[in-house]
Amino acid sequence: MWLPCGCTSKYVASSFARRTLASYLHVSGRSRCNVAAFMPEAAGLEGVSGRAALRELSVSNSESFWAAVARHRLCWSTPFHTVQDCDLSRGKIKWFEGGKLNVSVNCLDRHVHTCPERVALIWERDERGSEMKYTYGELLEMTCRLGNLLRRHGVKRGDCVTIYMPTCPLAVASMLACARIGAAHNVVFAGFSADALAERIRDGEMLLLIITVNQGVRGGKVTELKKTVDTAMQSCPTVKQVFVAMRTDNPVTMTARDIAMEEVREQKANQILEIQIQAVEDVVCEPAVMNSEDVLFLLYTSGSTGKPKGLVHTQAGYLLYAALTHRYVFSYHDGDVFGCVADIGWITGHSYVVYGPLANGATTVLFESTPIYPDPGRYWDMVERLKINQFYGAPTAIRLLLKYGDQWVNKYDRSTLKTLGSVGEPINTEAWEWYHRVVGDGRCPVVDTWWQTETGGICIAPRPSDPDAEIVPGMAMRPFFGINPVLMDTEGEVLTSNNTSGALCMAQPWPGMARTIHNNHQRFIDTYFQPYPGYFFTGDGAYRSEEGYYQITGRLDDVINVSGHRIGTAEIEDVVNQCPAVAESAVVGYTHSIKGQGVYAFVVLKKGIDVQEADLSRQLNGMVSEKIAKYASPDFIQFAKRLPKTRSGKIMRRVLRKVVESDLEGLGDLSTLDDPAAGWKNKCQCQI
Ligand code: ATP
Ligand code: MG
Repeated sequence: MWLPCGCTSKYVASSFARRTLASYLHVSGRSRCNVAAFMPEAAGLEGVSGRAALRELSVSNSESFWAAVARHRLCWSTPFHTVQDCDLSRGKIKWFEGGKLNVSVNCLDRHVHTCPERVALIWERDERGSEMKYTYGELLEMTCRLGNLLRRHGVKRGDCVTIYMPTCPLAVASMLACARIGAAHNVVFAGFSADALAERIRDGEMLLLIITVNQGVRGGKVTELKKTVDTAMQSCPTVKQVFVAMRTDNPVTMTARDIAMEEVREQKANQILEIQIQAVEDVVCEPAVMNSEDVLFLLYTSGSTGKPKGLVHTQAGYLLYAALTHRYVFSYHDGDVFGCVADIGWITGHSYVVYGPLANGATTVLFESTPIYPDPGRYWDMVERLKINQFYGAPTAIRLLLKYGDQWVNKYDRSTLKTLGSVGEPINTEAWEWYHRVVGDGRCPVVDTWWQTETGGICIAPRPSDPDAEIVPGMAMRPFFGINPVLMDTEGEVLTSNNTSGALCMAQPWPGMARTIHNNHQRFIDTYFQPYPGYFFTGDGAYRSEEGYYQITGRLDDVINVSGHRIGTAEIEDVVNQCPAVAESAVVGYTHSIKGQGVYAFVVLKKGIDVQEADLSRQLNGMVSEKIAKYASPDFIQFAKRLPKTRSGKIMRRVLRKVVESDLEGLGDLSTLDDPAAGWKNKCQCQI
């Protein structure tokens, strides 16, 4: 029997749902507070006088906190007996053992039970104005049919299925179908080449099946996804079957290995009018009963710092953490339309397009296009049309749109927006302010959310906090419930004071953490737990302000040491980007015979800017000297048309470092680079 919790009257509330945090957290205190209205499982909690105090409690009494939340928020078929069994020094992380559940039941069935007509997905297709809506009932049906199709073709519990699809309802249903039958999924971003796809398939070894579409459509351009898969298959002999769905009407060559996922219901001349998943498949698919720690998916990191790592996430802890962060960081309320524009090929797409929103019964937007197709008003037109309440995107897109000017935003009604989110990179002050002032009309909180593929969900963000608590531009600020960040100095000692910078680590485990690197647990230990024994090491640097707020200063690999002064690249870039002529910049260090390291800045100008480069260089140097220090001002400034970025839009500073060192042969793994032909490859010769 499934024990549905935390939902509505149609459910028979389990004994767990009725219990509250108060019964797990033995706190005594004076006053009751409004915490209960904020977090229902905290109803009746004594002695907590606000959200900050609730957070304190979630860290000091972490097991009890997570136990209560897990019982309330998830629907279990068997309750867990052990909340956590973790040992960070050995990279051992286990949550909710003994518990059994099914992720697709949590994301679909329980909502279908109460409100089958609620819209689960709005597919914002590449062709503007042609969006399609899918209710929870329809998504469940699609998922079940696919689950049966996979089962019929031999996919078993514990197998792993690669999904190479653009962001679309079938991709979401494929992920959920895997979860339903107990198979793990490995979503590979559909913009990757045949080589990058093949490498991820081979790395996974057990990856037997692929789900794809005939062609992708993005930014008005058609990409030959099926052909890319065919090429990749030449070096992937373990792949037995390829399931092919149709995104466009153009037929593709099918081989003996390929299986059509859909059948055409109605066709006129060459045009397909109606298509659906193989109708022979039943619409009922018995969910597999999974253990909390069974694998849900593996997913490769963006590859900003090196060869991507295949991180493994498991069932209950991941889902709980994605759902809780989605609800509280974005102040999501029932009935809201949540618009995260990330591709499902990244962790942001997994946690905040698919699992977090669906676990909360939200209407989630699937964005297939680009921010500038067919014009730079695309996002805001979509916000108006779909009545989006929370918008979540990346700084790289914000910086791009800022270049085109305010008129593209002002054309559209954005009054439905309540919260704006940013993820992926530090958001520089100018972009933050534009996002807040222009996009959000100065009335929506901007949440700069820091997290990683490894963390499963958001770890540091301005919210949740009291609704009127201050938000500082460009700062992620406050740790989420159960998150205990610490800063380390270079000797490996914890820095206890404020107004200090160090290596960002986590002192306590939380349910959303990755459990291992696929097939390489030793690399997992070496990368995340060896550098600071007993702590999870993020690889990023952070500054903690006088008030105790966190600001990410960039990747530690990117920290530059100029004459003994350590400085994060993000800090210098933030100042350079404040110059009205500058669209974006990337700063790297290089070997300097006197200073140890020098500062080298790559700068991209806004559209239509016509300035003397030498004058602008002087101006930028003056700005950095004034706002940071003379030693931080760049030794070289190189103007470039574009910066090298990962497909997820992050600047690849490691590539620029190699360019600066003139090591053009040794640029490293470029499989995740978005445009290998961009003009940053020639090192400039002009010294400032
Ligand atoms: P790889 O691990 O392969 O080098 P990656 O780190 O870019 O790639 P992701 O897991 O997608 O892969 O990205 C997480 C990283 O993105 C963080 O470690 C951090 O450096 C950066 N990041 C994410 N959000 C923020 C943010 N809000 N502010 C600053 N940096 C951020
Ligand atoms: Mg990383």
